[in-house]
Amino acid sequence: MPRPIQALIHAEALSHNLARARAAAPDSRVFAVVKANAYGHGIERAYEALRGADGFALLDLAEAQRVRDLGWRGPILLLEGVFEPRDLELCSRLNLWHTVHCEQQIDWLAMHKTHQPQRVFLKLNSGMNRLGFAPTAFRTAWTRLDALPQVDEISLMTHFSDADGERGIAHQLQRFDELTRDLPGERSLANSAATLRHMGGGLRSDWVRAGIALYGSAPDHPAHDIAHWQLQPTMTLRSKLLALQHLQPGDSIGYGSSFVAEQPLRIGIVACGYADGYPRHAGTGTPVLVDGIRTRTLGRVSMDMLAVDLEPVFAAQHNAQPGAEVTLWGMGPRGTRLAIDEVAHAAGTIGYELMCALAPRVPVASV
Ligand code: PLP
Repeated sequence: MPRPIQALIHAEALSHNLARARAAAPDSRVFAVVKANAYGHGIERAYEALRGADGFALLDLAEAQRVRDLGWRGPILLLEGVFEPRDLELCSRLNLWHTVHCEQQIDWLAMHKTHQPQRVFLKLNSGMNRLGFAPTAFRTAWTRLDALPQVDEISLMTHFSDADGERGIAHQLQRFDELTRDLPGERSLANSAATLRHMGGGLRSDWVRAGIALYGSAPDHPAHDIAHWQLQPTMTLRSKLLALQHLQPGDSIGYGSSFVAEQPLRIGIVACGYADGYPRHAGTGTPVLVDGIRTRTLGRVSMDMLAVDLEPVFAAQHNAQPGAEVTLWGMGPRGTRLAIDEVAHAAGTIGYELMCALAPRVPVASV
């Protein structure tokens, strides 16, 4: 028997979430962002469910090659552009659109010998201060690109730092609009948070770049949960109880004895640890479902195991024997759910990190 841990990818939920992104931006086309192996879901699995998107956005040529190998003939955008001059050759061959965020990438394009001009997305650093041309350099970059025979279309893009938070997008949008008002070309501005929260009004994004919303995590958790945005969980991490222990007052659990029982307590040991991608920083109290009943983790997460409180499960008169199903996040038995965002929040992180960190040793199945 294999170890009982398993990840499930919910294809219908991915398609549903794509439809939600579309509904939030009805006048835009949607890039499904599938970088980082489709946020841990597996590009091949996600592709099947997301092929209704208008394009795919991803990080590097290897990911682009995988999407082309799946048969996708439509747009693919490299979100960070090319990393060295020879990438441009494969870019042409795979017919990719690529971001241009620095002078060096324009130099490489200018030296590139091609018979097929390329479409580029010129990126403005409007305040994120990660990638992109400074406002003072942006127009010059546009003029340089416009003069290159290697380039046949220039689209304009930027990336918001606070679309999910209180600061919002207005200050960055104003900078972007001031610099691009009279320039031709399509615009791509919105990530998931901007798509869900800020479309309409003054935000025009001919192409939205939706990532996390497609994967069933609320970009603005904990202000909102996925139910608020009508998104569905796309990844379940589930396992089983390996053993039960009966603790007496004063007994402790696991490494470091960080949890000490104050009264008699029945606990379950789950086949899931940080080597599976479960966050070690999830301390006592992180939500978990045992046979669909909500309870909490206890003590420190080990490499291959963690402990859960079984008292609420027995109180609900449910099955809590070795072999009982444990839902670490996602969909539990009888339609129960545990949002990945709740687990992430308890561990001091975000849903993105948990899904991307799913360990290769965890078997994955599509359902
Ligand atoms: N666009 C760019 C440039 C990104 O780097 C990312 C992800 O980090 C996205 C879009 C998608 O963001 P989200 O997953 O928040 O929708």
